[in-house]
Amino acid sequence: MRVFVISDMEGVAGIVKWEQTTGGEKLYEEGRVLYTEEINAAVRGARAGGATEIVVMDCHGAGKGWDFNSLLPELLDPHCEFVVQHEWTEYTGFLEEGCDAALFVGMHAMAGTGEGVLSHTVSGQAWHNLRFNGRVVGETGINAALCGHWGCPVLLVTGDRAVCREARELLGGGLTTVEVKQGLGQFSARQLVPAKARELIEEGARAALRDLSAVQPYDPGRPCEIEIDFTQPHRLQEYANRKGVEVTGPRTLVSRADDWWTAWTQFYF
Ligand SMILES: [Zn+2]
Repeated sequence: MRVFVISDMEGVAGIVKWEQTTGGEKLYEEGRVLYTEEINAAVRGARAGGATEIVVMDCHGAGKGWDFNSLLPELLDPHCEFVVQHEWTEYTGFLEEGCDAALFVGMHAMAGTGEGVLSHTVSGQAWHNLRFNGRVVGETGINAALCGHWGCPVLLVTGDRAVCREARELLGGGLTTVEVKQGLGQFSARQLVPAKARELIEEGARAALRDLSAVQPYDPGRPCEIEIDFTQPHRLQEYANRKGVEVTGPRTLVSRADDWWTAWTQFYF
């Protein structure tokens, strides 16, 4: 069984401040340890659940050389391999080869979620709402659509209470979720201690792999329209002149194609 662990940093137990997720900050080094150990818990759980090949892909933009490179290699469980991407959603090789399940660890809620710890969508400075065929989604939706394009279901999402709810609403009741903290605001939370969070993530990963058909691979629909509301007009400029992209308002653009992956790549890269 081939399992893809896709991870972000903001949804990890113990992490509530940007300084814990931003490369170069003193608190970041603590954040990396917390992050890497939650990944290890998912890897242990996946192995116990029958995974024979596990690839981990960091999706957290920590800045500079830390972009998608926040995991601490020395601490990682040797039963996985890990991918460092240069651009987010760049690496699709493992999915293309055929993947049985994806597990999402350390996720955060979409932009504008009141009790979502460190909630945002792609870029807190530049992006506001993101819609796939009219439905507002966050990064769980992006990563799920990426997996779904190659027929891979998402079986586990871990993070705060808000992202667990968001993920179940998007992917259905068959999804296993592990809530490691409850947001009190964007930068405050009541949390499990890391050891407890890891125990639950390990068990959640193992349990989630029991039924590979519990969740259908996510497809936002065909044809697919991706619509982004940026925070300010100048933020859409870098995407405005790309093929298949139409500016529909001072802060809004739309990318249309026959399927989600084409609509995504023609504007995002
Ligand atoms: Zn992140």
